[in-house]
Amino acid sequence: MLADREPVIAFVAVGANLGDAKRTVSNSLHALSRLPGTHCTGRSRLFRTTPFEAEGPDFINAVVRLRTRLTAPALLDALQDMENQAGRLRPYLNAPRTLDLDVLLYGDASICSPRLTVPHPRMWGRAFVVYPLADLAPDRVEPHHWAAVAKQNIVAITEPAA
Ligand code: AMP
Repeated sequence: MLADREPVIAFVAVGANLGDAKRTVSNSLHALSRLPGTHCTGRSRLFRTTPFEAEGPDFINAVVRLRTRLTAPALLDALQDMENQAGRLRPYLNAPRTLDLDVLLYGDASICSPRLTVPHPRMWGRAFVVYPLADLAPDRVEPHHWAAVAKQNIVAITEPAA
């Protein structure tokens, strides 16, 4: 039973670059906090980023911290359901996306299964992860992480949460 499981702190990256991306990301932040057995314990500001390993218009990105009793695969299932509900298509690799949700960290777990790798294997090379993660949880980002993302365009577009 979900209620019997110990909660885990997970960090999830949210990104969109099609349609009303700002609204999609904001709605997703709310939807994530309503997942079964899950509370949102913090979220970054919204950031605008030039597409990196992707195509199309600028992205809107954020990172959210969840306290969740979902297992890591169940969390991934829930994220993929949300992507599908947002109309996510995968016509080709790195295509523009209405919504992209990635599990960055799941407690201190190291997971390497056919459908889930945690910590996310490319998170430290992506400004759209490093900046929002540092905004939300500065202790999770170490000084050497900044060098890899220094040349990527990213700007915060909302104020810090009060
Ligand atoms: P994407 O096209 O970026 O949404 O990639 C999704 C694919 O990456 C799916 O097939 C997932 O099963 C897989 N995947 C592996 N590790 C992760 C992760 N940590 N978070 C999200 N998706 C993951």
